[in-house]
Amino acid sequence: MAYSSTIQYNEESLTTRWETFFNDTGLRSQAIILSDRYPEERSLTVPFSIIDRFDADFANYLLEDPAKSLPAAEKTIKAMLPPERHAVSINFRITGLPADSRIDIRNLRSKHLGKFVCIEGLVRKATEVRPRLMKAAFRCARCDAVSYEEQEGVNLREPMECSECAKAAGATKFILIPEISTYVDTQKVEVQEPPEGLRGGAQPERLEGFILDDISGRIAPGDRVVLNGTLTGMQRTGPQGKSTLFNIVLQVNSVEYREHEYDEIQITADDIEKIKDIASKGDIMREIAASISPTIYGFDIEKEAFALQLFGGVSKEMQDGTRIRGDIHILLVGDPGLAKSQLLRYMSELAPRGIYASGKSSSAAGLTAAAVKDEFGEGRWTLEAGALVLADKGIACVDELDKMTDYDRSAMHQIMESQIITVAKAGITATLQARCSILGAANPRYGRFEDEQLIGDQIDLPPALLSRFDMIFVLQDKPNVAIDRNIATHILKAHRVGEGRKVDKLPESISTKTVEAESRVVEPRFDKEFLRKYISYVKRINPVLTDEAISMIEEEYLRIRKMGEGNGASVPITARQLEAYVRLSEASARGRLSRTVEHEDAERAIRIVGYYLSKVAREGGVLDIDRIAGDMSHSQRAHVNIILDIVRKSAAGEGISIDEISAEAERYKIDSSESRRLVEKLLKAGELFEMKSGVYKVVQK
Ligand code: ADP
Ligand code: MG
Repeated sequence: MAYSSTIQYNEESLTTRWETFFNDTGLRSQAIILSDRYPEERSLTVPFSIIDRFDADFANYLLEDPAKSLPAAEKTIKAMLPPERHAVSINFRITGLPADSRIDIRNLRSKHLGKFVCIEGLVRKATEVRPRLMKAAFRCARCDAVSYEEQEGVNLREPMECSECAKAAGATKFILIPEISTYVDTQKVEVQEPPEGLRGGAQPERLEGFILDDISGRIAPGDRVVLNGTLTGMQRTGPQGKSTLFNIVLQVNSVEYREHEYDEIQITADDIEKIKDIASKGDIMREIAASISPTIYGFDIEKEAFALQLFGGVSKEMQDGTRIRGDIHILLVGDPGLAKSQLLRYMSELAPRGIYASGKSSSAAGLTAAAVKDEFGEGRWTLEAGALVLADKGIACVDELDKMTDYDRSAMHQIMESQIITVAKAGITATLQARCSILGAANPRYGRFEDEQLIGDQIDLPPALLSRFDMIFVLQDKPNVAIDRNIATHILKAHRVGEGRKVDKLPESISTKTVEAESRVVEPRFDKEFLRKYISYVKRINPVLTDEAISMIEEEYLRIRKMGEGNGASVPITARQLEAYVRLSEASARGRLSRTVEHEDAERAIRIVGYYLSKVAREGGVLDIDRIAGDMSHSQRAHVNIILDIVRKSAAGEGISIDEISAEAERYKIDSSESRRLVEKLLKAGELFEMKSGVYKVVQK
């Protein structure tokens, strides 16, 4: 903080100055109007700029010594009110602090103690609102007189002596009278640095804040806020009693909200010109896709889908109050070592409000949110946000999604469709927003992906959850000389480029020209900073479907649905995929800065959805969505019924052995390994039971 005030104020000169301020700025009459509505309204909120314009030096003094200046202002307001309102006490709150009062949590130092500062952050934890004693009333056990004692801190402080009989605390007893004591509502919060301000995977630092009175209870975990307040030290208590080390906490004076993800990214007129210029030329979508994780070779269509995810579809509020999400959820499933984690990390750094998390998260809140009662709440319940809530209005990149806890598993259903999470536990019932897109990655349960088996069988995620992803990309590691050579060359060259960046000059024997050429291949076409601006800009566009796009998507949907006709009970795709087409084509239009969703957008969506479906949902040349989202494909269901029939028709009472089952099943062209698998499945589903080892019977229902 570069400023300092030249004038030093004492209590009297402070009060006089505030008086002049309130009179000159007309805020005095505003305070009187406000006091009419007391106690419903009890805060006078003033932008800092008004004080600064009134007297820059006086304003600086406020920033430097808020502990003196703010109470003086509140006292002055109280004195200005008509005499019959002397019981009214109005909070004086200041917003819009100057840029040099804005300090990153990680840069807070002892020199900031006692100063008025402005902290930007993401709310991780917030306690329930509970009253705290401000002024405690005590009855003296000796003389019955009432003494008052102002309270600070967590422990109750009794009077030193009775105000009437002057008996000291040791000679009498003080009994608290709750009814005539005064209280204030309190809430404790914890904010953490916003992820976009962090460099290269640094862990976000955190700060605790105390919120008092009418503004407590408005903050929820996941909110993006600016907290203005006084930074104070809190003495730690170590094992040997009081310590000389201090914790820092913020006594919050006012809270400002960051509504939109794009508020945080500054876009200048020059930027807009550049964005428009670039969007009008060439194949913008391809170039953006190529800027995503360029060191990773291949995955062209996946990267194109990632680009669409960054732009997002249009979220809609219908007349009947329903909300349709615009966020696009993508899942990557596949063999180990195929750069899934790498891609996720890159996306989390690229996306505005992006967060990288692992399904195996160790915090209490996990991926979603939780109510906990721990030290932080000092006796209150605390609501803590997990990754998906922290990524509100951004992208949550969740690696090892299949490893998430059962608690998260059930909460995920709600989050992925309605984009909220409700927590109801003890005193807390809260609904938190989690309007994020999810980019998940999961590994196959048995290490490697098998072509013939259902996705639902191979990854440890419930089918109902899988069906909520707009797209599921299966990545398979199949040796292929031509492709392997390309990948190997790419990886090796990328490593050499990396080595080259470590040395000032390449050794003689290595051609500088060659390495320069290689470096161009792994260099992103657009850097992250520009892409973030691009994303923020296009998110403000809300494109509308043209008739042509509507009929293209409709035709495609019906074409695929038709494959199911005359094909027994197979369902090729459902209305969920129809919505995926819409979201993807809207995102595509945004990417082109177009206000209408046109032919090429619908075409792109159809191409990408077709690509992912063809890889996951095809069985004998026929699309079957149950291969992804159901627990059995159409043909499997038929097989299951055959097996059940075989067991049912077996000699009653004795059951049937697994060998007999598979021998019988061979007649229906079900091989023995498939029979065994289906028997396992039926056992798990509770349709069959094992009488004795290897002998089965049907469960009678
Ligand atoms: P996964 O999470 O799928 O198991 P990782 O993201 O941990 O895989 O990737 C393993 C390593 O292999 C990473 O260092 C990654 O850079 C490299 N790698 C895998 N596939 C590619 C590729 N197509 N291009 C470049 N590097 C790759
Ligand atoms: Mg991995």
